[in-house]
Amino acid sequence: MDRRSFAQSVGGVVALSVLVRSSVRGEASSDSAPSMVMAIAAHPGDGLFTMGAILAQQIARGGTGVLLNLSVGERGAPKDIPVQHYGEMQRTATQKAAQLLGAEAIFLAYPDAEIPFNEESTLAVCDAIRQYKPDAVITHWSGSWHKDHQNCHLIVRDAVFYAGLETLERSRPAHSVSKVFYAENWEDADNFVPDTYLDIEAVYEKWLQACDFYPMWRGQTGFFRYNDYYSALSIMRGCLSGFKHAVTLMSDTSQRMSRLRSL
Ligand SMILES: [Zn+2]
Repeated sequence: MDRRSFAQSVGGVVALSVLVRSSVRGEASSDSAPSMVMAIAAHPGDGLFTMGAILAQQIARGGTGVLLNLSVGERGAPKDIPVQHYGEMQRTATQKAAQLLGAEAIFLAYPDAEIPFNEESTLAVCDAIRQYKPDAVITHWSGSWHKDHQNCHLIVRDAVFYAGLETLERSRPAHSVSKVFYAENWEDADNFVPDTYLDIEAVYEKWLQACDFYPMWRGQTGFFRYNDYYSALSIMRGCLSGFKHAVTLMSDTSQRMSRLRSL
């Protein structure tokens, strides 16, 4: 199959693979049950820009979504805004964005750039998973230059394990997460290979509005044009999947096994 025939056929192929391979139920199908999705991000911008459309899509279908932020991303402050004040601006923006999407926003209090990967942080995320009981968890991919993103990835993988471990006693009973996905993030791009394309057309405009609560979205706090990058990315991913706008996810390796009796 050459590139042109791949592009012509890929919409159907991807839609089928989404149905078969993803437990973020409801992609490209209107009769599957909506699910509870938990997005876990090192910084609120990561949560909204790379995972927010997925939360919005599930919520629009009748599911529920929660965004857990390990920090408020206060050290992304521009020179003219004190770090602590910028952190509060980030928290407020996140609450407004989550409210617009119908999601819940919760926060842990780790300092930006110093999110630790240890038993305490892992158990804190484990407890949040046991509290909200998500069907699917989305977080950072490990191939990141940013230490907070790398640590968030490690924390979440262990927290999902702890959350489902019946013999680990916490204040709430064990909860097993069905699927773990990694989000597409310009800072986590090393060896990121998407395998799930999600149609976000129904929530595209609302997601952009939610992202717009953050000054960084329009490049007001740094050099990177988040709005241009993520809106263009959704168009590019849409082209490849046969949707108008799409976001991609990478499944955890444990979910990639297929059990077949024949091809
Ligand atoms: Zn970040």
